[in-house]
Amino acid sequence: MEIIKLHDLYFKPFITKDEIVHIVSSLAKQVREDLPEGEVPVFVGILNGCFLFAADFIREFNQDCEVSFVKLGSYEGTSSTENVKQLVGLNEDLSGRTVIILEDIIDTGTTLQEIYNIFRDQNVQQLKVVTLFFKPDVFKKELPIDYIGKNIEDKFIVGYGLDYDGLGRNKAAVYQQTTPPTMKNIVLFGPPGAGKGTQATLLKEKYNLVHISTGDVFRYNIKNATELGVLAKSYMDDGNLVPDEVTINMLKAEVEKNAGANGFIFDGFPRTESQAKALDAFLAEKGAKINGMVALEVPEDLLVNRLLERGKTSGRTDDTDEEKIRNRFNEYNTKTAILKEFYQEQGTYYGVNGVGSIEEITKSLSAVFDTL
Ligand code: AMP
Repeated sequence: MEIIKLHDLYFKPFITKDEIVHIVSSLAKQVREDLPEGEVPVFVGILNGCFLFAADFIREFNQDCEVSFVKLGSYEGTSSTENVKQLVGLNEDLSGRTVIILEDIIDTGTTLQEIYNIFRDQNVQQLKVVTLFFKPDVFKKELPIDYIGKNIEDKFIVGYGLDYDGLGRNKAAVYQQTTPPTMKNIVLFGPPGAGKGTQATLLKEKYNLVHISTGDVFRYNIKNATELGVLAKSYMDDGNLVPDEVTINMLKAEVEKNAGANGFIFDGFPRTESQAKALDAFLAEKGAKINGMVALEVPEDLLVNRLLERGKTSGRTDDTDEEKIRNRFNEYNTKTAILKEFYQEQGTYYGVNGVGSIEEITKSLSAVFDTL
């Protein structure tokens, strides 16, 4: 389950579908057991929020009963207002009947008060109230509530019938309001030799971000002869991309290792469209996203020489052989370069001139980072 956004607000998973099923069935069982033999109750659901609860509860109740609804309006946005309106009223004769109210949630008790007012003059034999959720900390009334599914703290919730400004009712689980995600995640993009690693090392300090270079992680694994390293080596040595599945799983593991991070600079990832999609989905689960793809734009002919120069000291076998370098560019041009369009479509592509001194380029990149 993941964080969801409804209108302007974020909500995190709070009560699972399974837990709800369990609560509803135990409420239905208690109500059934407390009723005298042969008694046919009238369930009255309080719309709109109760519609899923009422349906599931009545199915679980699984005995003769009648069903009706009233519709009251009390919420505006996320805070309860004092003024409850009866939008759809009762029109059946309930005298002498056992009436059981089905509420999705009771918080301040304003709506409950209104319910008691409505039923006071109906000559019912008895009135019972069932609520799925109850907020004991904010309940201000002296009114009986006969059955409570679950007590919850005073935080705004949505899902399973409950809404925020119309949305969220369709969710099978219940979500609780949470603070907006603040992570800043940036893809530092560019062809091999563009200077991503050098710039990422400077920018991660400045912006307090975690730098993940998939190339570095692979090289570390090769150096330590791990299973992953052995697998990656054959591809890297020839300048080919390591298969997506391997790379994606590795990247996820690196992100998970830094759970408390302010955000990430991804360097050398994503390199294929399927990696980009996997990254979006993975971040979405955390309520986060890529804030921008910042690309170092450098002409290819400049880069081959840069890489050959770097190869003299970097110790990287893929930097020393012109044929391997050409293959890396081929991989870049056929599989990676299209990601420019992928991020352009999302409106998050920012091109920066990657020719110039290290300081000049850091400055241009910072100017973009500051806006993200
Ligand atoms: P780099 O240090 O970013 O130039 O990456 C060096 C090599 O590591 C690449 O040529 C690939 O063989 C491998 N590699 C790094 N990142 C990825 C990735 N995202 N997908 C596939 N292979 C990668």
